[in-house]
Amino acid sequence: MLPNFENTAIAFELKTDSQLERAYFLFKMIANEPLVRIGTAVTNFAIKAHLPVEGLIRATVFDHFCGGVNEEDCLPIIDKMYEKGVSSILDYSAEGKEVDNQFDFAMEKTLEVLDFVKEKDAIPFAVFKPTGFGRFKLFEKVSAGIALNDKETAEWGRLVNRFDRVCKKAHDLDVSLLIDAEESWMQDAADDLVLEMMRKYNKEKAIVFNTFQMYRWDRLDYIQKLRDIAASEQFCIGAKVVRGAYMEKENDRAKEKEYPTPICASKKETDENFDTAINYMMENLDRFVLFAGTHNEQSCLKLISKMQEKGIKPSDNNVWFGQLFGMSDHITYNLAALGYNAVKYVPYGPVRDVMPYLIRRAEENTSVAGQTSRELALLQKERKRRKLED
Ligand SMILES: Cc1cc2nc3c(=O)[nH]c(=O)nc-3n(C[C@H](O)[C@H](O)[C@H](O)COP(=O)(O)OP(=O)(O)OC[C@H]3O[C@@H](n4cnc5c(N)ncnc54)[C@H](O)[C@@H]3O)c2cc1C
Repeated sequence: MLPNFENTAIAFELKTDSQLERAYFLFKMIANEPLVRIGTAVTNFAIKAHLPVEGLIRATVFDHFCGGVNEEDCLPIIDKMYEKGVSSILDYSAEGKEVDNQFDFAMEKTLEVLDFVKEKDAIPFAVFKPTGFGRFKLFEKVSAGIALNDKETAEWGRLVNRFDRVCKKAHDLDVSLLIDAEESWMQDAADDLVLEMMRKYNKEKAIVFNTFQMYRWDRLDYIQKLRDIAASEQFCIGAKVVRGAYMEKENDRAKEKEYPTPICASKKETDENFDTAINYMMENLDRFVLFAGTHNEQSCLKLISKMQEKGIKPSDNNVWFGQLFGMSDHITYNLAALGYNAVKYVPYGPVRDVMPYLIRRAEENTSVAGQTSRELALLQKERKRRKLED
């Protein structure tokens, strides 16, 4: 059976009337580009000036897009989602840190999360971002093949050590670990490192997951090569497949530095690339465990048809669907209602530290206009159904 993404009663079942109204109000604001620009500037100023705006942020955007300020704080919503068949991934979302003790802190946080989730069926994955564990510039230098000086070599060693400690712990505790993908000019170094981790820790099953951004036209090749390496060296590939979040930045840099953009020439090409990657993995499920991170309904439906074609049950642990908390509930909850492995990234952290993440969500929803109008239409439909309209 195919999910019905129009079923708003299922999609918003966990939202009280006032939460539904708040979501509607928020997406209406987000749809307004000048308002988002002004709102972002005012919020940034207020935070820097230490004005007491945290309460306001918490009651609005924060509570919509984040699970809480720490792991415990997220538990009530995680438990509620799990009752509806939706799993969670705790995503510590403090961003833009640049010094060693902060990288150590992020690593300790991930180690803590691994301990925390070990006994919790509701949280089947942990996650981290490569540049949470080391300096962006260092990844960039290694990716470009530039020799490191002694100090940098030692710094890189510490970074590798952070990756290794977290992946080893995930392996020892048998918790799957997603590693996000970032800008292409730092990603080669991260990919090489993740490959090493897969070699070490994915011998019996996919513990370590890399992320493949299918807006990059070179990724299919990379995925196929990776499969060959995995087949000859006998390890599994954890594969989070996404379209990619840094398109404008990628295109701007390529233009400025005069090299061919790594991004597909059109949305259609990205979509085709995404579908091809998914189909390839589905044909090679002896090597891949697939996590489709997408808010695109068609992509989910195509993956479901492929599962049906291959006789793969909705609850098969080799296929996962992921969306971000606060977005595309119509996909997540309607998939879960039919027994598919649906999971939410649940960002959390101190309100101030999570601000860059929240601002990105607002900006992204403003730029992906179709997505916001979709959210608004669904929220409106549910308001009507509940007779909340004014
Ligand atoms: C659970 C989860 C985890 C994620 N993890 C990561 C991650 O680790 N790294 C990361 O980079 N992103 C990540 N993302 C974000 C993701 O890459 C997308 O930006 C976001 O999900 C929007 O794409 P979509 O598939 O949902 O849907 P759609 O709305 O169908 O696609 C929008 C995307 O299509 C692409 N696109 C749009 N216009 C064009 C164009 N003109 N030419 C070429 N391509 C175009 C862009 O990638 C754009 O983001 C994650 C998303 C989710 C849900």
